[in-house]
Amino acid sequence: MKSIFLALVLFFAMIDNGLAQDPPAGNGKTGKRLMAVTIDDLPVNSIVREFSHRMYITEKILQALKNHEVPGIGFVNESKLYKKGQLSEQEVSLLQKWIDNGMELGNHGYSHADYNNVTIDEYKTDVLEGEKVTKKILSAQNQRLKYFRHPYLHVGNSQEKKVALEKFLAEKGYEVAPVTIDNSEWIFARAYEIAFMEKDSTMMKKIGMAYVDYMEEKTAYFEGQSKKLWNYEIKQILLIHANQLNADYLDPLLARMNKRNYDFISLEKALTDKVYESEDTFVGKAGISWIDRWALSMGKKGSFFQGEPRTPQFVQDVAKITE
Ligand SMILES: [Zn+2]
Repeated sequence: MKSIFLALVLFFAMIDNGLAQDPPAGNGKTGKRLMAVTIDDLPVNSIVREFSHRMYITEKILQALKNHEVPGIGFVNESKLYKKGQLSEQEVSLLQKWIDNGMELGNHGYSHADYNNVTIDEYKTDVLEGEKVTKKILSAQNQRLKYFRHPYLHVGNSQEKKVALEKFLAEKGYEVAPVTIDNSEWIFARAYEIAFMEKDSTMMKKIGMAYVDYMEEKTAYFEGQSKKLWNYEIKQILLIHANQLNADYLDPLLARMNKRNYDFISLEKALTDKVYESEDTFVGKAGISWIDRWALSMGKKGSFFQGEPRTPQFVQDVAKITE
């Protein structure tokens, strides 16, 4: 009897030890890190106009999302659905593919207007123009258009504009889709497309591999910032775009995130994190991560933001963009 008791004690001690060796790496009940993946500039962000290429980008991104069981959301610029003033059924079919593959759609403004450069009334028009087709597609599936993502993450360069837009979006039934893992993926994407046009497959591969490493470094940076501010890792929201870079490299990127102990969740689920109720008093021209906005609102200064990964110089050179 005594030996059974001792065996049980040892057994539970072992279990206990086993658990103790698994640090709670994230914020889920299972110790998993959690992330929502949001994809902007639908149907496709590309200078290549051929429909077959646009279809390729759409299908490859959707396949990567499905491979990793990502409940993704794509944000649409409806101006891209028109050719010479006519609604293009082909372009609309690309959006339909997102829905058919179980993804959500949100509004990203009709013409991708920059709120820093237009009036509130012009911006309101762009929001309303940007919802017509998407609303129709969603209502055919008994879904509602719920989220708005600001182009360039510009939410208002004056207090007056910021408040006016917040009020307008709320009145129209929109929830704002924030971003916590902001990044310069768009510079990599530009470089990648230039290398593609030049048929430089060696450079394409170099950029693609650097992209996956860079995105992991950015993610690690914002995990760290989150712990510095709140002592835990928040439910993160990643921003990427519907471009050729992600057609070819979203799959390895998501695999890397899996390896980093991430599970993928919907935007709605990410927004249940109480961090998204934090006060945001930031007003300015910059389109920055919500983590940065909250940090600035808490009075954090220069040194707090040190160590953010930069885009490699060779990528900036190929893209002809200085970060
Ligand atoms: Zn955009």
